[in-house]
Amino acid sequence: MARKKNFDPDVKLPLGDLSQYPNCLLIKDCVWQLKFCRQIESGSDVGACEPNTKTIYNAIDQSRSEKFYTLIHEVIHAIEDEYGFKLRHSAVEKLERGVGDFILENFNAINRIVLGD
Ligand SMILES: [Zn+2]
Repeated sequence: MARKKNFDPDVKLPLGDLSQYPNCLLIKDCVWQLKFCRQIESGSDVGACEPNTKTIYNAIDQSRSEKFYTLIHEVIHAIEDEYGFKLRHSAVEKLERGVGDFILENFNAINRIVLGD
């Protein structure tokens, strides 16, 4: 589960609106559903990973950057499940930021290189 963040909401994102997110994610060799919803079952959380149904939930009422980092967080939980290991939750939270920043910084850089913008 992902908790509410204190991140700067003005992070430059390659993912703008929800239509740019895929409905499904391939993790290892399994298809996971990605669903945006008004409220996560546990109340105060903003994301959830349900291995039994292979579903990642992401709360819709977050900023663009929060939705992005919540997705990264829940994908890390899905990777734990698919690859059979378990991290301390503090490590998941650090990876959420590190992996998210890595994707944002490098995909923007790749876009600049490939598209020349
Ligand atoms: Zn979590």
